[in-house]
Amino acid sequence: MITRRALSSLRRAPLARGLSSRASTVLSALDIRADRELPGVYDGEWTGSGDVLESVCPTTGEVLARVKSATPAEVERAIQRSREAYKVIRSVPAPKRGEILRQIREALATKRDALGALVSLEMGKIRTEGEGEVQEFIDIADYGVGLSRMMNGRVVASERPGHSILEVPNPLGVVAVLSAFNFPVAVYGWNLALSLAAGNATLWKPAPSTPLCSIAVTKIVSEVLERNGVPGAVAGLVLGGKAVGEHVVGSSDVDMVSFTGSEAVGREVGKVVQGRFGKVLLELGGNNAAVVMPDADLNLAVSAVFFGAVGTAGQRCTTTRRLYLHSNVVEDFLARLEGLYQSVRPGDPLDRSTLLGPLHNRAAVQTYDTAIQHLKEIGAEIMTGGAPYRDLASPLNGGNFVMPTIAIPQEVNVKDKVWSTETFAPVLTVGVFDKLEQAIEWNNGVPQGLSSSLWTRDIRNVGKWIGPAGSDAGIVNVNVGTSGAEIGAAFGGNKSTGWGRESGGDAWKQYVRWSAATINFSDEAPLAQGVQFSNTA
Ligand code: NAD
Repeated sequence: MITRRALSSLRRAPLARGLSSRASTVLSALDIRADRELPGVYDGEWTGSGDVLESVCPTTGEVLARVKSATPAEVERAIQRSREAYKVIRSVPAPKRGEILRQIREALATKRDALGALVSLEMGKIRTEGEGEVQEFIDIADYGVGLSRMMNGRVVASERPGHSILEVPNPLGVVAVLSAFNFPVAVYGWNLALSLAAGNATLWKPAPSTPLCSIAVTKIVSEVLERNGVPGAVAGLVLGGKAVGEHVVGSSDVDMVSFTGSEAVGREVGKVVQGRFGKVLLELGGNNAAVVMPDADLNLAVSAVFFGAVGTAGQRCTTTRRLYLHSNVVEDFLARLEGLYQSVRPGDPLDRSTLLGPLHNRAAVQTYDTAIQHLKEIGAEIMTGGAPYRDLASPLNGGNFVMPTIAIPQEVNVKDKVWSTETFAPVLTVGVFDKLEQAIEWNNGVPQGLSSSLWTRDIRNVGKWIGPAGSDAGIVNVNVGTSGAEIGAAFGGNKSTGWGRESGGDAWKQYVRWSAATINFSDEAPLAQGVQFSNTA
């Protein structure tokens, strides 16, 4: 009989044994060695001697690589090295930091397709979405290059003669980026671009299940930093799970924590960082609704809802999870949508013809099952889907494939968890309304507030939807689906999604410390508001 110990050492055996050709092609294009345990810490040097993380392919169940996470001492050293690196990068002129970002952008662009394939292999999203995610990093790097010459403060009129007031943005310090598994490249990119342009050192703690994406990205970025004579710890990496995350979040040497993940973890992270008066940016769960009015262009709306609900196998924070249909369009809309759902086939996300990839892990399949079970218990009609795929051929039978599901509960009760929680899987629940006001109430009646989408050709509906009595989400689209934002606008949500803003717009202003500097260039020293404080008066 094989002992437990022998089993565990077998599991830890070098990975020289046959990696599938689909995996080895992707990894070798990025020089990722799968025949040894990889170091999961970068602080100017590659180290890592903590617990071993396994990167498991969600499509086949194959172990792609093993990665050594950070020990507490290694996390601490990485934080301290980030602090030292900050002291260097803060004094590099912003446009020169922009030039480094430009080179990072170029380096990413040459590896765009290879990195996109790695995202598909390790996270499980389809090829076009994997590449789109890398494109997002490239786009935000472009944005950061421009930003590096435009992070302007203000000159404010002073009430005192011979005085000027300046509002000055200065670098903040160390920015920790804790990211989720579903965007293993882009979320870091959004943060790194703004943080580096602003003159900070950035320390990345990615999801433990996508270590290879973070190692590949960090290699690309660090090569550029080293070429420019900048300390590598300007863009450090610490791989690990909850304990590593807690260490980073709790450290008073980390000035800002930009956290992307679930509401449950974000709530704890927010309290810890707030408790030590650090800066926190939270990008948490979404529970996004699309509202379809009777005058909507259904051709556009049906395909947008299909992409929003089924794209990324329902694993985007902006995935369409709730569909509110006007009673006049219910039948037509659902017939068309069901047709699209039934046409979709699960497949290898690396294959360019695949539209439906796997869920990221087994736990997500369990979450999907539990949600379907609850829908059945409350008497919802499962219009299509409702079960994992069970009879797939090898190697997909080792993956986490579930059927995209449309469910019609008997009523819309936004207090029921069917409507009020984010199930991170392709489950779309449908409700029927007669008045836009009712749909807006349902849209707003949940804890989350990330994305929302109205389909109409009537300008009066648009006014209501985007106005004070309209959608309370951070993203309020019209004739555009809930999913798939561009980098130019600030991205983020409200309420339990966390009120954070990343990417474009004014998001960069969170990555700096602001000072109001009043300068007296006169020969008098008057006090503000005319206050007199002199015994010679
Ligand atoms: P998660 O909350 O489980 O993990 C996120 C990160 O937090 C990971 O790096 C994880 O290791 C780390 N972590 C876990 N426990 C921690 C702790 N106690 N202290 C510090 N760090 C800890 O999220 P996930 O399952 O990886 O990602 C899915 C979630 O992320 C979904 O809810 C999705 O909506 C959300 N998300 C939001 C956005 C957005 O922009 N709003 C974008 C992508 C994903």
